[in-house]
Amino acid sequence: MAQQQQQTPLPEAIASQPWNPSTWRSKPIKQSPAYPDPSKLKKAVTELGRMPPLVHPNEINALKAHLREVAQGNGFLLQGGDCAELFDYCEQGAIESKIKLLLQMSLVLIWGTNKRVVRIGRMAGQYAKPRSSPTEMVNGQELPSFRGDILNGYHVDEREIDPNRLLKAYHHSAATLNYIRTALSSGIADLHRPLDWGLGHVRDPVLKEKYSKIASSIQQTLRFLQVINARPGELETVELYTSHEGLLLEYEQPLTRLMEKPTHPGVSRPGTPPGSSPTIKPVAGDESKEYYDTSAHFVWIGDRTRQLDHAHVEFFRGIANPIGIKVGPTTPTEDLLALLRTLNPSREPGKITLITRYGAGKVASLLPTHIRAVEDSEYRSCVVWQCDPMHGNTLSTPTGIKTRRFNDIYSELEQSLRIHKEQGSYLGGVHLELTGDAVTECLGGSEGLDEDDLSTNYTSFCDPRLNEKQALELAFLVADHYSR
Ligand code: PEP
Ligand code: MN
Repeated sequence: MAQQQQQTPLPEAIASQPWNPSTWRSKPIKQSPAYPDPSKLKKAVTELGRMPPLVHPNEINALKAHLREVAQGNGFLLQGGDCAELFDYCEQGAIESKIKLLLQMSLVLIWGTNKRVVRIGRMAGQYAKPRSSPTEMVNGQELPSFRGDILNGYHVDEREIDPNRLLKAYHHSAATLNYIRTALSSGIADLHRPLDWGLGHVRDPVLKEKYSKIASSIQQTLRFLQVINARPGELETVELYTSHEGLLLEYEQPLTRLMEKPTHPGVSRPGTPPGSSPTIKPVAGDESKEYYDTSAHFVWIGDRTRQLDHAHVEFFRGIANPIGIKVGPTTPTEDLLALLRTLNPSREPGKITLITRYGAGKVASLLPTHIRAVEDSEYRSCVVWQCDPMHGNTLSTPTGIKTRRFNDIYSELEQSLRIHKEQGSYLGGVHLELTGDAVTECLGGSEGLDEDDLSTNYTSFCDPRLNEKQALELAFLVADHYSR
C-alpha cells in the first residue's frame, strides 16, 4: 500500500507538467480499443481535426457559469439520456421524445426546488461504451463485445472495430445537435400543449395523491400563463446542453481546439482563489485562449478510467469544459481529493461534477465519508454533487437480461438526498438513463413489471433505462424533498 502511494505522482507534480491535447498518449490507458487498421484510424482522426467545432466556447462557459450556481446551492442539474446512444436514434421522433421528457421533468424540478434547472442530455455523442469484458455471449455465440456505435455495431456481423465510425459519430452528433437546436428554437419547449402527467408507477395512494396535487398545480400555472399570453421563454431560458463519456480519446483529441476565452460578463472565468495557481498555460504569454473539447459542452470520466496517473485524467486536466467524474464503491477517498487537485487546481466552482453511483445497499456507508472528505477540504462548495442512481444498481436475471429494480434506483436517490441534508451538503443534481419511449427495461413500478415482462419492449443495447413514468416519478421525489 505504502509502496503504491509512493508510485502515484502527487497532484501538484502532475499539474505542473506541460500539457497539450496529445500528452495523454504517453500514459497508460484503460478501455482503449486495438484498431485493426492504423492508417484508416489516422485518416479518420485527420479528417476529424478539419471538422468545425460542434459546440462553442461561449456555450461551454455559459454552462460552467450555471454549474457554478448549482455548486453554490442555487440551481439543480438534470442530466439524462440513453446509456448507449445509437446512430439509429438520430431521427426526429427519438430526439423529440427525449427533449420533451427532460423538459417535463425540469418543470417538476423548478416547481419543487424553486431554482433554475440546468439541463444536459446524454445525447449527440454518447456513442462510446466501456466494457468489463472484451467478449460477450450473444445467442449462445461468443463475440467481441459491443463497444458502442462509435467503434463497432451491435449486429453479429458488425463486431469488428471500424475507425470510419469515428467520423460517423461526428456526423450523427452534428445532425442530432442541429435538430436539438432547431427544435428548441422552434417551439418544442411550448409546454402549454397537453402533457401526460399520469403517474402509472406510483402505487402508494398517499404518494400518488401528493404527486397528483403537484402535477395539477403545475398544469394550473401553465394554463394561467397561457391565458395571460406569457411565453415559456419568459418563464426561463430553455437551454439544453450536450454530454457524453469522454472515453475515446482518439475522438476527443482532434475536436479539442485552442480558442478564444469568452470575455463577456456572466460567462467569464471566475478569479483564481489566493494560494492556488492555474497550471495549464496553453500558449506562453497568451492568456486569452484555452483548450476546449468542442465535441460536447460537458464530458465525464467513467468509473473504469479515473486512475490518477492514466491517460483519461491526463487528457481531462487540460480542457476548459466543465467535467464530470464518476465516483463509486471502488473510489478510494484519498483519490477523490487527488482528482480534484489534479483536474481543478484553480478551484473553479462548478468546474467538476462528482457523479456518485454506489448502489442502494452501499450509498449509506460510502457517501458520508466522500462528502466529508470534499466539504472539509479547500473544495468546500466547489463541486456539484450529482446522484447517478442507475449504475450501482445493475443486475442480471437468471436468463442473462441486464436490468435494474426501480425500487433500488428510487432508494439510492432518496438516501442520497437525505445524507446530503444530514451532512450539511447540497445534492445538486441527478444523472439518469432514460428514454421517452414506453420501454420495459427496469423491474418493478406500479405495473409490477417482472422478469417475464422485460421482453415486452426491451430495446436498449446496453444498460436498462427508465421509461417516461419512472423518470417523472424520480423528478417528483426530488421536487418533494426540496419543497418541504
Ligand atoms: C455510464 O454512465 O453509462 C457508465 C458506464 O457508467 P459508469 O462509468 O459509472 O459505470
Ligand atoms: Mn450505462
